[in-house]
Amino acid sequence: MSLIPDAAPEFEDEEPKTWWDFANCLGVEPDLFFPERGASTKEAKEVCRGCIVRDDCLEYALVQGEKFGIWGGMSERERRRLRRQRALARRAAAGE
Ligand code: SF4
Repeated sequence: MSLIPDAAPEFEDEEPKTWWDFANCLGVEPDLFFPERGASTKEAKEVCRGCIVRDDCLEYALVQGEKFGIWGGMSERERRRLRRQRALARRAAAGE
């Protein structure tokens, strides 16, 4: 007899959830997150503000090197700045 219960049949085919499944922007018009150059990012950032996977989303964009759009509540420019700050911090920590 095993102490590990058999998997409930109704969950066998269920895909494991990822951070994306909990995104606040699911069902929101994607164009909102990829505004034209110079257009407002305010509405997209407002959606991101209440998103529980904001940190995951931002890290994903940073790791993937996403160059366009709003990810994790940050614009391309803001992500570039954050990447530079992190690189400087890493160099400082390494004593370079
Ligand atoms: S942080 Fe913004 S772009 Fe990222 S998943 Fe959440 S709502 Fe979507």
